[in-house]
Amino acid sequence: MLNQNHTPMAENITSAIAHYDQVHGRGHFAPRAVLFDMDGVLFDSMPHHATSWAAVCTRFGLEMSPEEAYMHEGRTGAATINILMQRYHGREATADEISDIYAAKCEAFNACPEAARMPGAYEVTRRALAEGLKIGVVTGSGQKSLLDRLTAGFPDCFTPDRIVSSADVTHGKPHPEPYLRGLDKLGVEAHEAIVVENAPLGIRAAVAAGIFTIAVNTGPLPDDILLAEKPNLLYHSMTELASSPIFAYRG
Ligand code: CA
Repeated sequence: MLNQNHTPMAENITSAIAHYDQVHGRGHFAPRAVLFDMDGVLFDSMPHHATSWAAVCTRFGLEMSPEEAYMHEGRTGAATINILMQRYHGREATADEISDIYAAKCEAFNACPEAARMPGAYEVTRRALAEGLKIGVVTGSGQKSLLDRLTAGFPDCFTPDRIVSSADVTHGKPHPEPYLRGLDKLGVEAHEAIVVENAPLGIRAAVAAGIFTIAVNTGPLPDDILLAEKPNLLYHSMTELASSPIFAYRG
């Protein structure tokens, strides 16, 4: 039902909200908080993740193209490694293999230049705050430098108690748990939140958590791959999202 090739107009937003309210019977959409994914939403870091995964997998005899890395985006490192191990060796990875391969991937990623803030992302966070919405981050990343990077890139936006990382969850995306933890941390119900996501599996996780989900297609995948996960709206950049009337909607 959602199939637009340009910025959603006000009437598309109204119908997306009506559709959400119809599907989620527990409460009308009344946003009080925004949960942001990190890589590919707040930081333009996905090209580095994709090339790091591809290079490291080749070294360990597990082929994965950078394009495939975008399809796995949002999974934990362990889950991604297990999928490849099943494909090439027909078994689960051992704990040592996961730890070695993931360490090598992190090393390759950390050797890349520091990812820039996604254009428009700071404007989106300031807009949400100006509209009186609480904001948080829900990421599959477990990097220790996470908070420092968020603080440096988004001054006065995120506090440590409003960040969900891989250390906070048992199940990574596409399981809804990360986003359910995000709702807990911000003290809101599913119908009181908005998720901003760029990856198919991240959209799946947010939709499964019952949250109004905005896809922002900042990467190389066609819109149809993101739309197949049934986000409520789709934008093509954070800059485009920054001027969306959705943040002013109060139900
Ligand atoms: Ca992402």
